[in-house]
Amino acid sequence: MNIKQQQLFGPMAHVREIMKAEILEAVLPLVSKASRYLGNEINAIHKDLSKVELRFALAFPDVYEVGMSHLGFQLLYHLLNSQPHIACERFFTPWVDMEALLRENRIPLSSVESQTPLSQFHIIGFSLQYELGYSNILKMLALANIPVLAEERNDCYPLIIAGGPCTYNPEPLAAFFDAFVIGEGEEVIFELCNTYLEWKKTNAPESTLLDRLAAIDGIYVPTHFQVDYHADGTVKNIINVKQAGKKVVKRYVTNLDAAFSCTTPIVPYMQIIHDRISLEIARGCTRGCRFCMAGMIYRPVRERSLHNILELAETTLGSTGYEELSLTSLSAGDFTAIDTLLKKLMKQHQKNRTAISLPSLRAETLTRSLMEEIKQVRKTGFTIAPEAGTQRLRTVINKNLTEDEIMHTVAEVFAAGWQLIKLYFMIGLPTETQDDIEGIVALATKIRAIGKKIRHSNQLNVSVSTFVPKPHTPFQWTAQLLPDEIREKQLFLMRHLKRPGIRLKWHNPEMSILEGVFACGDRRLSNVLIKAHQLGAGFDGWSEHFKPSVWDEAFAECMVDKYFYLRARATDELLPWEHICCGVSVDFLKAEYQKALTGETTDDCRVTGCKNCGVCGIQQPTPNYPSECTNPPVKSSFDSYPPDSPKTQIYRYRCHFSKSGSARFLSHLELSRCIIRALRRACMPLNYTQGYHPHPRVIFYQALPVGIESECEFFDMELVQHISPNIIVAHVNKHLPSGITMLSVEEIFLKKLFAPDIMTYQKYRARIPLPECSAAPSISAIDDALAAFLKSEDFFVKTTKNGSTVSINIRPLVSNLSLKDNDTIEITVNNTSGAMLRIGDILGEILELDDKQRKLLHITKLTA
Ligand code: SF4
Repeated sequence: MNIKQQQLFGPMAHVREIMKAEILEAVLPLVSKASRYLGNEINAIHKDLSKVELRFALAFPDVYEVGMSHLGFQLLYHLLNSQPHIACERFFTPWVDMEALLRENRIPLSSVESQTPLSQFHIIGFSLQYELGYSNILKMLALANIPVLAEERNDCYPLIIAGGPCTYNPEPLAAFFDAFVIGEGEEVIFELCNTYLEWKKTNAPESTLLDRLAAIDGIYVPTHFQVDYHADGTVKNIINVKQAGKKVVKRYVTNLDAAFSCTTPIVPYMQIIHDRISLEIARGCTRGCRFCMAGMIYRPVRERSLHNILELAETTLGSTGYEELSLTSLSAGDFTAIDTLLKKLMKQHQKNRTAISLPSLRAETLTRSLMEEIKQVRKTGFTIAPEAGTQRLRTVINKNLTEDEIMHTVAEVFAAGWQLIKLYFMIGLPTETQDDIEGIVALATKIRAIGKKIRHSNQLNVSVSTFVPKPHTPFQWTAQLLPDEIREKQLFLMRHLKRPGIRLKWHNPEMSILEGVFACGDRRLSNVLIKAHQLGAGFDGWSEHFKPSVWDEAFAECMVDKYFYLRARATDELLPWEHICCGVSVDFLKAEYQKALTGETTDDCRVTGCKNCGVCGIQQPTPNYPSECTNPPVKSSFDSYPPDSPKTQIYRYRCHFSKSGSARFLSHLELSRCIIRALRRACMPLNYTQGYHPHPRVIFYQALPVGIESECEFFDMELVQHISPNIIVAHVNKHLPSGITMLSVEEIFLKKLFAPDIMTYQKYRARIPLPECSAAPSISAIDDALAAFLKSEDFFVKTTKNGSTVSINIRPLVSNLSLKDNDTIEITVNNTSGAMLRIGDILGEILELDDKQRKLLHITKLTA
């Protein structure tokens, strides 16, 4: 066993426990949105890390709510954990407040499940979804005390790999990773893990591991390739020094039905970007939009069978309690049996008020029957992506969507009751002229006029992004707009589209430039990335954290001209990603580029036959287009209390529950959402409100501030079927997350739900965590402060109410106050005053605690 193997497999449970306690007590009370870091969400997997052969860290270089919204991230997590000998845990970039606290407290970046440091894992796999997340990779490695450069990591460190769409041009990151997975991770990941485990049993050096990994199809080891440059900076040679001439060809799943599906996705407490079930109905798109990287790299099209989708929907809704099911694919309307699928899903899940959404519906695929199905449950905004303002430019980009089709869809959508249409356009597309920019204004204006005619309040959101040439697309040789050109076009649109009923959104030009540089960049960018990281870059995809001056300084110090990467390239220039093969041939891309310039379109190969893009030959078997199944078996997880029984009577219950441990960091909204989803998982036959946005009739009492535990919380709920209170308690408790316990339920006989602030006096216990509180008051000082308060007749404190500072006398609010143990106070407050302060602030004022000390008070509500 080499040094790396000895260190990685040593005992570490003790360290982990300390870490967990430290984070919970000293750090979480001080950060915003602490629910990002709890790790005990429903369906999260906790394994004993000392008992598995392989510890895999799945890392996402952005904040939790972004990472958790990625379907592939969840899929790999559950796929890896499906193997008893592997434990996979999640890592995200800590938000800026948490990052500062980790640094201050010298806590290394740790997993959300067990707070195990990143460096304690055998393999770290980063998910690379967009170029503006690159600086966060370096931030995460640095926070884990892992050298960012692969050549500086010896055998003591984990193997660091990456997957995701950005790996189709991995060159800007080549210096940081040991290997990249090119293609669909689920196809390769076990070959990679097994190779690692076999190597681990030997005493061989890490170079042997890399040799073995490089032998796996779809794995790219950057050190096996040597890159040389011409004097003008263009790439001269990319040489595979181990296997001359061999390129790295992507791997992909040939049959989605047979591939692993995640039916128990983690249900975050906080509202994430896509807070719903994402069910992938198809992968790939052959429409052939010439700017679209996803349309090239995810080919060929593969569809799931109806049978499989219906079964997955049923099981996943049952395991999560989500109220929305999103059918995802690059173009959901192109799914062969989309009408039938929607009808069946609606029929199957309408009873539970589950909304079915199609986030990627192309306007030309929208039929009236499809619209009828979608609008049955909920109508959020409807999205249409013309991408370009004129027919000429839409032909150039092969977006085969005519103005007539757009207008027809818009009229149908507004007439069907939607009040918001979102339009997506791009500026800077190849061959664009001023006419095309004016075309965006004209098209948006026409659409707004149609909407206004149907309903005056109808709204239009126009989102304009900047075209960024992407590798492996027919436009990979084209130039990107420069910042001044972007601004000029944006200004024109602002001048002409800022009018009532239209909301214009645009992208930060400097962010688009950086995205373009890294999308089409080469290995020389690694120095720039390191420099920018040292200068404080991070969260570059977040406009409030993006610092263009930092990047300018980094480019200047490294003497790298960023505009070199944004220029047009000759089609015979060697591109930095030439050795990475996505299956679509370069000849096909060149032919498509030429057709764009001559204004010719290319049909979808699913409609008019194969266009020889090359992808179907790279792996067997060829893509499957399953036909409709007629009799899908439906296994209901909602059988226990069928909610579709006639609503002859409504039954009302008052539920008493407690909130403790890490659950105290849930906000009121997170808590109520998490309880409602638990009720859905527990198959409670909830009564719903009527209308397009049906809500379960569940009403929570007072909002408990974040960070406070409670033994006496309440909510009322309505059921459409009578269930004995004891059964409700037993059943619901099985579905509640750790820290939330239903204590009792009583049936109430009220005409409607009743959730006033019925509690007049509330009793709290507050523990002052003296060791964690810098300059915390001594016991005698606490005693004196309490005595002085009790003796006083008035105790005025300043607080803000409706934006102005007011003075409140808190003395009459406190009816009991005593020091119990050395560090524990009990206090009873009167809740009838409209000028209620938070309990932490009342104690803080009495004890003269600063803001940090107030947050660190460990408070429990004892009685209501
Ligand atoms: S090889 Fe032919 S059928 Fe397959 S994705 Fe390409 S164009 Fe379509």
